[in-house]
Amino acid sequence: MSSTTLEINEIFHSIQGEGSFAGWPCAFIRLAGCGHGCIGCDTGYAEDEGVELEREEVIKRAIRFRAPVIEITGGEPLLQPAVYPLMTQLCDLNQKVLLETGGFISVEKVDKRVHKIIDLKPPSSGVAEQNHPDNIRLALAAEPPHRHTFEFKIVIAGKEDYEWATSLLQQHQLTDFFTIMMGVSFGKLDPAELAAWILRDRLRARLQLQLHKYLWDPSRKGV
Ligand code: SF4
Repeated sequence: MSSTTLEINEIFHSIQGEGSFAGWPCAFIRLAGCGHGCIGCDTGYAEDEGVELEREEVIKRAIRFRAPVIEITGGEPLLQPAVYPLMTQLCDLNQKVLLETGGFISVEKVDKRVHKIIDLKPPSSGVAEQNHPDNIRLALAAEPPHRHTFEFKIVIAGKEDYEWATSLLQQHQLTDFFTIMMGVSFGKLDPAELAAWILRDRLRARLQLQLHKYLWDPSRKGV
């Protein structure tokens, strides 16, 4: 991919289902390709189904929805060089831009105005060793208001994941400074069980329920 074209899987309008912007109408730009191989990846269809589009065309298609937020997602969006100028251009157009990233690439080059939702992959993903150490370091080093553009997301499939997550959060005192969204791996853990653990431990994390999977068929694309 060049710095002016992107491999796009889909551009669509939906309700943001996750994170601190859940519930807002959102224009999604889903970039194709990842290859990280997380167990339980629910966007495998974005792996190699994509069409090449000019950056200007991507912007035109996304802003036509007139949504209050635009999310760049994937696949893994940070693998494509043109995603960086794409995010900057959207910010320059006064769009509220969210980035959803798998967390194995540093967000250092991402425009500071972008709200970064960074996965911390737990043991059940099979890739917990590959969470990029830069991301927690950059978040902790950021001064307000830039600090508030970092948010972390952890998808929990069971008790081992939960214990791993609480230990990591405590080690870096992440709950003191950042929004921590904790969700369940759909169908693998009862959200009520995760809710009980969060309450029992007085954990400063927010339970998220992947709203779109309750609104529509969980296997449906483009939501
Ligand atoms: S980083 Fe995201 S898109 Fe890539 S394999 Fe993991 S879950 Fe799937």
